Amino acid sequence: MSETREPTVFERISAGEIPAEMVAETERVIAFHDIAPKAPIHVVVTPRSGDHRDVVELAAADPALLAELVDVAHRVAGELADGQFRLVFNTGADAGQTVFHVHAHVLAGGLEEGSLAAG
Ligand code: AMP
Repeated sequence: MSETREPTVFERISAGEIPAEMVAETERVIAFHDIAPKAPIHVVVTPRSGDHRDVVELAAADPALLAELVDVAHRVAGELADGQFRLVFNTGADAGQTVFHVHAHVLAGGLEEGSLAAG
């Protein structure tokens, strides 16, 4: 974590300072149920470190970590649903991003057909 900023909400979840319903953890990635679910299954998958604000920054800086996020998302969708899922990275405030610590929304289980909405 950078020394020049406050910890993000997701870093505080990773540290155990804020409770969350964890569904997967690796050395560098955590996954937990979204506090305000927009689908029957709605899980947030995020690096433990909040050093990258969004998926564009993460892809440029650490593509292996981005690949690990996708892998964890796939595993979670297989454990909680039928392995099929929508993966959403809100990128920028105007696109609905509220937490500027890169994270994927895993949406699964009875999704509205044709909808791209993630909330
Ligand atoms: P975004 O709007 O794409 O930045 O997504 C942030 C997501 O984090 C939202 O769907 C929130 O409901 C979720 N969220 C924020 N705080 C928590 C928390 N403490 N535990 C679980 N999910 C959270």
